[in-house]
Amino acid sequence: MNLLILGAGGLGCELLKNATMMVARKEIQLKKITIIDMDTIELTNLNRQFMFNDNDIGKYKAQVAAKYVDEKFTGVVKVEPLVTDLTTLSRDFYEQYQLIISGLDAIEPRRYINQMCIQIAQLSQFGNIIPLIDGGVESLKGHVKLIIPGVTACWECSISTLPNQDVMGSDGGNVPLCTIATNPRSLEHVIEFVYIKAMEGGLAKDWDQDATVVNQLLSQCQDRANEYNIDKDKLTISYMLGVMKKIIPNVSTANAMIAAQCCLELYKIYNDLIDFDSNPHNFLMINGNQGQFHYSFTYERDPQCPVCSVLF
Ligand SMILES: [Zn+2]
Repeated sequence: MNLLILGAGGLGCELLKNATMMVARKEIQLKKITIIDMDTIELTNLNRQFMFNDNDIGKYKAQVAAKYVDEKFTGVVKVEPLVTDLTTLSRDFYEQYQLIISGLDAIEPRRYINQMCIQIAQLSQFGNIIPLIDGGVESLKGHVKLIIPGVTACWECSISTLPNQDVMGSDGGNVPLCTIATNPRSLEHVIEFVYIKAMEGGLAKDWDQDATVVNQLLSQCQDRANEYNIDKDKLTISYMLGVMKKIIPNVSTANAMIAAQCCLELYKIYNDLIDFDSNPHNFLMINGNQGQFHYSFTYERDPQCPVCSVLF
């Protein structure tokens, strides 16, 4: 069996480690694992992407992750890194794999891979069914979706449930990142954008204790509010800190929990432990924002789904 892992970020590193350990413990057998990611390593990745260290900054994530496994788990399983945009790869490429796990953080490549799996099932008249396990993490929350083409709901069937890549607005609602980047409409959007940019640039742990940093951020917020003609009467240091501190970056423990659930699904599929006639739960959510909330349920197919309705 060949396994394809999409993404070598926070979730991808955990997925690769878990899958390798499962082979080492003989829970599953894999001929090879391919890991795809087109990004390079940045300083801000290091808090949660444990396969990378300071010396790896600027190198390709997929290559460093594969090398990590080679060095720490020598001879356990062949790991092939691929530095490319997964949406440029053809059906022939994906057909080499018997299972795909996604640890992506963007929506469009997920839609692409979902559509690809559905198309492979359709063109082979169900002769080739590639299960897709989709993991996602945002701050303290995450989900796992199990997609078996022609059997369960596909990724597109549940697209309305996923405010991924979003940040929490001041009213508690989600604001898409693209809105705060290109079309900010409120002071909160301005502050969130400045904060996210600062985090990407490597904000120190106790940044809010450093008056110079706080004043720099305030001045960036003022500039951006002016640029977009947004009323900044409310903009004080305490207001800015109030908005910024509500934004929680991805947490490594949430990645670990979601990766573990994804690999549990991998184990169950590999060992044929899922009774699909019983309409099993295919959607799991974890929310650590308030207490510890875990919930799984059966997400029904959308009969009008533009992607998977071709199969029925
Ligand atoms: Zn669908």
